[in-house]
Amino acid sequence: MFSNLSKRLGDSLDRVRGRGRLTEQNIKDTLREIRMALLEADVALPVVREFIDSIREKATGEAVLKSLTPGQVLVKIVNDELVRVMGEANESLDLAAQPPAVILMAGLQGSGKTTSVAKLALFLREQQKKKVMVVSCDVYRPAAIEQLQTLAKEVDAEFFPSTAKQKPVSIAKSALKAAKKGYFDILIVDTAGRLHIDTEMMGEIQQLHKVLNPVETLFVVDSMTGQDAANTAKAFDEALPLTGVILTKADGDARGGAALSIRHITGKPIKFLGIGEKVDALEPFHPDRLASRILGMGDVLSLVEEVSRKVDHKKAQKLATKVARGKGFTLADYREQMQQMAKMGGISSLLEKMPGMNKIPDAVKNQVNDREIVRTIAIVNSMTPQEREFPAVIKASRRKRIAAGSGVMVQDVNKLLKQFAQMQRMMKKMKGRGMMNMMRGMKGGGGFPPGGMPPGGMPPGGFPPGGGFPM
Ligand code: GDP
Ligand code: MG
Repeated sequence: MFSNLSKRLGDSLDRVRGRGRLTEQNIKDTLREIRMALLEADVALPVVREFIDSIREKATGEAVLKSLTPGQVLVKIVNDELVRVMGEANESLDLAAQPPAVILMAGLQGSGKTTSVAKLALFLREQQKKKVMVVSCDVYRPAAIEQLQTLAKEVDAEFFPSTAKQKPVSIAKSALKAAKKGYFDILIVDTAGRLHIDTEMMGEIQQLHKVLNPVETLFVVDSMTGQDAANTAKAFDEALPLTGVILTKADGDARGGAALSIRHITGKPIKFLGIGEKVDALEPFHPDRLASRILGMGDVLSLVEEVSRKVDHKKAQKLATKVARGKGFTLADYREQMQQMAKMGGISSLLEKMPGMNKIPDAVKNQVNDREIVRTIAIVNSMTPQEREFPAVIKASRRKRIAAGSGVMVQDVNKLLKQFAQMQRMMKKMKGRGMMNMMRGMKGGGGFPPGGMPPGGMPPGGFPPGGGFPM
């Protein structure tokens, strides 16, 4: 996420982090680099200016120059400033209303509204035990209504049917009535977007807003659009009283400008991040956690939350114990670990949240892809229980059989076995050290997929030594 910005800021701060003394020139250089990094990330100019001014003011104060660890104090100042521009704290949905509480979605075409309706429905149903109905008022885009219907089924939310022949306002009215009658807690209303802001679209959504009287009016915007996202949000906010923003497609190679500009330009909080096409790829937006991720310090809190939501704790605990002891970890366990990872939306979303990951070259991270997870599972599936327990018995003819059984090349089987052997060695070495220690020490203990070592991936000793926060 925002990997370019992350790398630039990380590199720049690394140069000062360890220093015992900082000169004014050091600080000046760092400020210049930060400024360049922000501009390149497409952060809006007024935000960049204020950001830099604020850091300069704090960084040239006594606290930094007199500190024994001025570099680290500077890192903290930058971190705090990032948190501040993104809005300090997480703002959750405010759903206090006579049910059904209505959530109205607004935004340009293709920004991710319909997908976000489904994601939100799932989030509210799973996390807050809400009874959710969804409805589409998009009578323009072909198949828009069917798209929502399919997604609603996937997330197990009630779908209120509508057709392209109806008027959006009359759909909204009937849906509201039905949601009341069916005692739904929440009604999420999907709307049509246009390619550009036009007065007709604004007029329509204003009308919808009037009849629905939503508690939340969320502006959905694509983070790839950079600081433009903030400007469109502002334009919408002038027509509609927005209560928050969902920033989508933060999983791609978005530059970060949107995340850093929206709050400042619109005054509206980003409430959620969309981080993938799947319906569970939605994260509450926590400025402090994102700042930490951007600065390469990881986001262990989100990781733990995600893991505890999706992982089978009993199994995980058992694996963690094996890993911690550095023995007894079999290929069946390895497969189990891969399956858990697949369940958590794949490796890239996990890696992203690890401290120090902005330092790992993309080439290495890309080796670690989710196709490999699937392949690993298939290969292990083709083994006998005995082979999984004692891989040493897997000689040439067995390798051939396994490859044929799982539809891969013998080389792939060889590679997997080699990796597994390496991993076992590493586990013995890591015993009682680093990342695992940290993970084990955390609340809810042992939740992390043990070892966390992706196939084909990490350089030996992959996690940053100590695995901790560099601050
Ligand atoms: P709408 O026109 O605003 O309703 O947009 P859609 O919900 O139909 O989404 C447009 C495209 O963006 C679809 O292909 C979605 O799968 C994709 N999309 C939506 N949200 C995300 C996200 O957070 N990450 C990624 N990678 N793709 C997304
Ligand atoms: Mg749509």
